[in-house]
Amino acid sequence: RAKAAGRGVVEVFDDELRAELAARTELEHALRHGLETGELVLYYQPVLDLETGRTKSVEALVRWQRPGHGLVPPDAFIPVAEASSLVCDLGRWALAEATAQLVRWDAEGGHRAGLEVAVNISGRHLAQAHLLDDVTDALADSGIAPSRLTVEITETVLVDEPLALEHLRSLRELGVRVAIDDFGTGYTSIGQLSRLPVDVLKIDRSFVSSGDAGHTELVKLLISAAHSFSLGVVAEGVEEDTQLSALLAASCDAAQGYLFARPVPAADLPAAEVPVAADAVAIAAEPGA
Ligand code: C2E
Ligand code: MG
Ligand code: MG
Ligand code: MG
Repeated sequence: RAKAAGRGVVEVFDDELRAELAARTELEHALRHGLETGELVLYYQPVLDLETGRTKSVEALVRWQRPGHGLVPPDAFIPVAEASSLVCDLGRWALAEATAQLVRWDAEGGHRAGLEVAVNISGRHLAQAHLLDDVTDALADSGIAPSRLTVEITETVLVDEPLALEHLRSLRELGVRVAIDDFGTGYTSIGQLSRLPVDVLKIDRSFVSSGDAGHTELVKLLISAAHSFSLGVVAEGVEEDTQLSALLAASCDAAQGYLFARPVPAADLPAAEVPVAADAVAIAAEPGA
């Protein structure tokens, strides 16, 4: 005890840092092994088209079925994967798996046939020239139309990665769609939107589900700005009816959130629909109406 008390702050900090580094290295090894042995799985969350009220596409969200740890969410391992080329291997796997899933759903028929899919791609992967090969391979191996694939990238990537813009342009030339994820959390101004090689803006859930009147106005503004630049808009994190009503009133194109469906394994994907407003149901149910 006396010995510990006599140790310098730097030494203790050193120990903590060493333990932290060891934990990260172990996680990285386990993740690499998990990727190779099929422990990673994609969950899918419906994205609803607010014009038709039906599911038009799904977002693929990775989960890690790590033995002894249960189902590990992406926030617990993506940051570690992003520290190395592992995140590129993960992205390549996700592109192949998600496009193959569309083919399986097409063959199955029913409400899951003909869907589109969005895959999250890390900035580190987007900066690599082989990203284009990974996308081309996934399209060729699955045979799906390029327009059924959307690549989601976060806003900050556009500033941090010099090659990102060039690669996004190439992706769009292939016919793949590009979405900016978590919009509003970074530094992109509305004015810059017109010059970015993107098709879709995904408004971050912190603006959609805050319940703050100022945020509701901001969302309206973002939607009209996006539309004036011919971008589609997806609202993330819709959890309540009132949020949905505000989005419908603002002519938002699509929405995603727990109000409609949570992310689920491929086999459980529901035929999610926009709930019909209570008064519309009442009118339809009126005798003689
Ligand atoms: P994201 O791409 O912004 O995905 C949306 C996240 O919001 C998902 O969390 C989803 O489950 C969650 N979400 C959806 N609707 C609601 C809602 O109504 N309320 C709340 N509270 N949350 C909602 P998830 O699956 O934990 O993923 C977290 C993040 O991890 C993703 O954020 C994405 O940035 C990253 N990620 C997921 N899969 C991948 C992947 O395959 N590759 C990479 N590079 N990143 C991934
Ligand atoms: Mg996303
Ligand atoms: Mg997001
Ligand atoms: Mg996110």
